[in-house]
Amino acid sequence: MSLSKFFVLIIFFYLSFSGYSQNKNLHFNPTVYNSEDSTVKKILIRWEKCLNGDVPLEIIEHQDNRLQLIGFCSDAISPDYQYILLNVRNIKDNIFELKTLSYTNSETNGINIIAVFNILAICDDNKIRFIDPFLYNLKEWTLIEKNGICLHMPPSISFDFPIIDSLEKFNRKMANLFEVRPIPFSYVLFESYSKLWEIAGFDFRDDMFTTSQQRGIALTPTNIILSSIPVHSHEIVHLYIRQKWGEKANNWFNEGVATFLGGHRGEPLKHHLQKIYFFLQNNPKINLKNLLEYQKVDDYADFRYIIGGEICKLIYEIHGINGIYSALSTADDSKSIYDYIEVSLNVNRNDLHAFLIENIKKDIK
Ligand SMILES: [Zn+2]
Repeated sequence: MSLSKFFVLIIFFYLSFSGYSQNKNLHFNPTVYNSEDSTVKKILIRWEKCLNGDVPLEIIEHQDNRLQLIGFCSDAISPDYQYILLNVRNIKDNIFELKTLSYTNSETNGINIIAVFNILAICDDNKIRFIDPFLYNLKEWTLIEKNGICLHMPPSISFDFPIIDSLEKFNRKMANLFEVRPIPFSYVLFESYSKLWEIAGFDFRDDMFTTSQQRGIALTPTNIILSSIPVHSHEIVHLYIRQKWGEKANNWFNEGVATFLGGHRGEPLKHHLQKIYFFLQNNPKINLKNLLEYQKVDDYADFRYIIGGEICKLIYEIHGINGIYSALSTADDSKSIYDYIEVSLNVNRNDLHAFLIENIKKDIK
């Protein structure tokens, strides 16, 4: 049985037999609701008020150098969701873990599981407060700092090369290229993408069990990179783009520039070009004249990253960093993007397919 089918069954069970009103946002597992523990009872009252939106969900910030509040669990909370509190357990001293399932249930789409997530509650002097599980779990991790970079690694990971040095070297390279001071950042390294979400407090969310577990996220403007790749250069490039262009960076070129300079999913652009070259040979109906219409190549790459990366590489070879700056300053509409590609590469759109195939062929040799 798949994990999501299992959770649908759980919901069905509680809606059918729990006896609680379905108008409430939160249903309790009866064993939780009947707990005799006075602290658990207080926690339940507080949690119910938070999920009903009666009181704000205040999460205690963890005192850590620059790893600011991330609060991923808030992704699983919305006025549109309903909840089942599956379990409450005392994990340490006065700290309790609440395992909650959130879902939507509509006539048109039926039951849709959003997440099963674990938030932590602490009871101090009869006051209940909540703790971000991500920052709590990170407390036991190894922290290495060097020149503005804080690397957080789980105790289970060890590498035979100094990751911090590689991160710092690439960071300096990007600072030089983008003509700014090196950006300080926190880098949190995970064994896998699903582990990242597990540390963030999730047992389940729909994007955590992807085929490719080599993934990362750049949280801007807080400059935190979460990744299952030891040196995820692509995400570092995003920090520089964000700093210089803010929200205005062209969305399509943003990924192309990051892939050109930092590769994608831990592999250099050339690796992906080799794959897309054969993909295009096997799919002759694809015409790169309309490249913005195409999305996925496979579970690892999109056209936006790979063809975008190749186009940014070609722009850089002709115009240098100013060509990249202009690409990132281009408006987000398709016409502006095609116009800039034509002008910067000096190629007519009708000839773009042959032009790109010829250049990819050269670049993968
Ligand atoms: Zn990216």
